[in-house]
Amino acid sequence: MFLAEKNYDVIIAGAGAAGLYAALHLPPHLRVLVLSKREATLCNSALAQGGIAGVWNSPNDNIELHANDTRIAGAFTNNPKTLQILVSEAAHDIEQLVSDYGVEFDRAEDGDYDRTLEGGHCRRRIFHYADSTGAEILRGLLASTRTLPNVIISEFTTMSRAVKTETGFSCELLKNEEFQVVNCHYLILATGGIGRVYEYTTNSAIATGDGIRIAYELGARIKNLSLIQFHPTAFNNQHTRECFLISEAVRGEGAYLRNCHLERFMHKYDDRLELAPRDVVSHAIILESQRTGSKEFWLDISHKEPDEIRKRFPKIYQKLLEQGYDLTKEPVPIFPCQHYLMGGIQVGSNAQTRVERLYACGECAHTGVHGNNRLASNSLLEALVFSRRAAEEIAKEAADISPRFDDGTFQPVTATEPIPHGIRTELRKILQENYFVIPNTEHIRTAYERVTELIQLIACEDWKMDLDYLEAKSQATCAYLILEEQL
Ligand SMILES: Cc1cc2nc3c(=O)[nH]c(=O)nc-3n(C[C@H](O)[C@H](O)[C@H](O)COP(=O)(O)OP(=O)(O)OC[C@H]3O[C@@H](n4cnc5c(N)ncnc54)[C@H](O)[C@@H]3O)c2cc1C
Repeated sequence: MFLAEKNYDVIIAGAGAAGLYAALHLPPHLRVLVLSKREATLCNSALAQGGIAGVWNSPNDNIELHANDTRIAGAFTNNPKTLQILVSEAAHDIEQLVSDYGVEFDRAEDGDYDRTLEGGHCRRRIFHYADSTGAEILRGLLASTRTLPNVIISEFTTMSRAVKTETGFSCELLKNEEFQVVNCHYLILATGGIGRVYEYTTNSAIATGDGIRIAYELGARIKNLSLIQFHPTAFNNQHTRECFLISEAVRGEGAYLRNCHLERFMHKYDDRLELAPRDVVSHAIILESQRTGSKEFWLDISHKEPDEIRKRFPKIYQKLLEQGYDLTKEPVPIFPCQHYLMGGIQVGSNAQTRVERLYACGECAHTGVHGNNRLASNSLLEALVFSRRAAEEIAKEAADISPRFDDGTFQPVTATEPIPHGIRTELRKILQENYFVIPNTEHIRTAYERVTELIQLIACEDWKMDLDYLEAKSQATCAYLILEEQL
């Protein structure tokens, strides 16, 4: 047994921004278990570069402008109620990051926060810590959570399955090839994105959609899983699955996009040029690629002051140098790749799903705030606002909950043979080829049918239940749900 205790008031699957912020807002009398599939610092939150958007002590800005930019990026398909919550509660949560959890944001020379600009924002409203904002937020949240006596963080612990009981949930956990079943009254899924369903993604290795598969198995509604954002400017290195992101903020600070002839081309596609929202820019790149017959594209900020670039983007500058490119002197190769999931586990304004006592927040959840396309730097904000609201809702409900914990039962898996090699590679290839920036409508049905066959192969229960198997199952479930929406 790797965990001494069997019963918890709340189990949170996920130790990114959403999971930790929920833990920090649960009342101290509740016993909380937070799970992280790998080390807690390996998650999408830690990779966020650009920053967190919000109107906080900003005299030239207001929440209506923030909401309007979010609506324009989302093609006016955003959920009005959750969007209003997002923009109006942003100030509270950004302030709390600073005052309660010791998170730092860059300041300008006059001492005020140095808010930056990103595509689709009409005001400079992005709070950032150089180009490592997510890592700084995670540092503050992780350090603060570790001081809480009522919260246990269990790293390298995967939630493999969950079943509903009368008193909440039983969850099966896997750590170092050992399984353990624990119970809880409330379950919060904060397992992040699904990038690893694609061949090329900016997402970290944990992003295999486990929470979405678990929620689906529990009967939660999964909505808009095919609303996937493809970031236009990932560093183009087709040798690694995880594509290093070159933040939107680089275009915000004046970078140009150039085609294979080193010509600017965005004027042919959108009046907002390089600062159009991500879906528009990614789309323009693919159309320009079809026009020129080349996948060669460049991001160029070499016309700006080198010291400013190095100061503003130290991590990006360093990472590109390691790849042989000097951002201050030359254009760098870029291409769109999978970046973010707008859809997910359908939740209400307090992050509640349709399954009693099951909550979901962060990237795995679908609050509807983003509509069809997320505005840059709104997702860290969404993760904080709605995970706090989940915790506040649970705090209210848990006041009169029975102290009883029921044990659920899991069908035993005794097989010892690993799942066949190549299933995960095939799944990634199917999505990359058929459902990228411009979907391959002619082949979607064939892709869907093949994914259905792969699901059946995975589900036949003849395979050893290890991490590889579980992640394949999650990836296949997500691929199936994405393609099904497109039929
Ligand atoms: C390169 C990059 C740059 C980005 N830049 C920005 C930005 O500038 N601004 C912005 O707002 N957003 C940005 N985003 C998006 C944003 O970072 C994410 O949407 C957000 O951080 C997601 O937080 P989360 O807590 O939901 O998920 P994550 O931070 O990914 O955390 C997921 C957690 O779930 C755990 N987990 C997963 N499966 C299991 C399981 N089965 N059992 C137990 N634990 C599990 C993981 O171990 C991890 O701890 C960026 C994303 C990327 C990839």
